[in-house]
Amino acid sequence: MEAEIIAVGTELLLGDILNTNAQFLARQLADLGVSVRYQHVVGDNAARLEDLVRTAKARSELLVFSGGLGPTADDLTKETVARRYHDALRFDQEEMDKITAFFAKSGRTTPANNEKQAMVPVRGKKLPNRNGTAPGVWFEDEGRYAVLLPGPPHELIPLWNEQALPLLQPLCQGTLHSLTLKVTGPGESHLEETVGHLFRSANPTAAIYAKTGECHIRITAKAATAAEAEAMCRAKAQQFYHILGECVYGENEDTLESVTVAALRRARLTLTTAESCTGGLVARRITDVPGASEVFGFGFVTYANQAKEQLLGVPGEVLAAHGAVSPQTAAWMAAGARRAAGADLALALTGLAGPGGGTPEKPVGLVYLAAAFRDRLYIRKLGLGGRGRETVRLRASQTALDLARRLTLGLPLPDDTQIVAADRLAEEMR
Ligand code: ATP
Ligand code: MG
Repeated sequence: MEAEIIAVGTELLLGDILNTNAQFLARQLADLGVSVRYQHVVGDNAARLEDLVRTAKARSELLVFSGGLGPTADDLTKETVARRYHDALRFDQEEMDKITAFFAKSGRTTPANNEKQAMVPVRGKKLPNRNGTAPGVWFEDEGRYAVLLPGPPHELIPLWNEQALPLLQPLCQGTLHSLTLKVTGPGESHLEETVGHLFRSANPTAAIYAKTGECHIRITAKAATAAEAEAMCRAKAQQFYHILGECVYGENEDTLESVTVAALRRARLTLTTAESCTGGLVARRITDVPGASEVFGFGFVTYANQAKEQLLGVPGEVLAAHGAVSPQTAAWMAAGARRAAGADLALALTGLAGPGGGTPEKPVGLVYLAAAFRDRLYIRKLGLGGRGRETVRLRASQTALDLARRLTLGLPLPDDTQIVAADRLAEEMR
């Protein structure tokens, strides 16, 4: 099947908002095995919309619309498309009652213009919207289909998943299934060397997407049934797991922070952070995860040397002798944070995020990461420079979270990890 995506809205044309719905819909259609031929953005203008729908409908079986279903006068998508699909609209009391109830819930009366939203197709289908007042719409005209979805993503996404997908799946031959592996540690070029051969297959396909500090491997299989496609993806994934092992930290919606928090929870361990160059980013990522309070009570942002001394007990002599960006300071920060927070595991980061402040011995991007866990200190020297301040910080937070994940799960550590007995800190890290 061939499709076109049509996003309606002057806001989009003006660049006031980003067309994230088109991205979502394009991915979803690809997963269905539907080829998206065109993506359009059109303003709230009936004549231009009509023109576009005429052209698009003539060449593509499926048109998917986003936006323009609201109650305002410029929301004319429904009427315009209905006409082109030889359908008409009728008033639907059931939808009207839902709209009235929706407004009543927040103590408001229904504005008169909301009656427009209660208009549904005579021949087509209404797609009930549980997150807003405008229902989605489905039109059919001699083997040509149109799906109309409301603009706000928190309405569009559930409507798509719950209402549009079940209507579309039977129309698509075979089904596609995708599985994404999340990989951290090896960079993209290293992956090409070790698992490059696994990307050269037609079904399932596998593609790599480089992100900051991690790579995503998306596996997609096409088969007659969903179960078959899923099994094909799983078999392919096993080949990646076999080579990459625990560098695959998760799948699909997993994030490094979500799997780290989950691992800490399962192990009943608590975490604290002592951050300099990352300014609290690790703590933020941890607390982005719902339920993080079970494992994380507080962290430290110790940007100045004085803060490192006062809050974490880093000896002034250590700072004077080695500087803030040193393995010694990182180790003392981790040990001090763990003690001060009474946590099981402490992560510490100190480095040069840039853009200024680098020297030949300590270039921008030099970051020391340390962890205090059980009776040991783990220290790593990282070179993360070259791609700007934000990237240094993100990659530093990534390596820190990964170290926490590995320590918590008892996984192998990177070869360059220096390990020091905690009770030898004062002797070894002077
Ligand atoms: P409403 O009932 O809220 O008016 P609508 O279906 O008429 O919904 P629009 O008025 O076009 O949709 O857009 C409403 C809001 O939805 C926009 O302000 C924007 O926040 C979001 N939105 C609209 N289109 C898109 C899009 N293509 N991508 C991402 N967000 C969008
Ligand atoms: Mg609107």
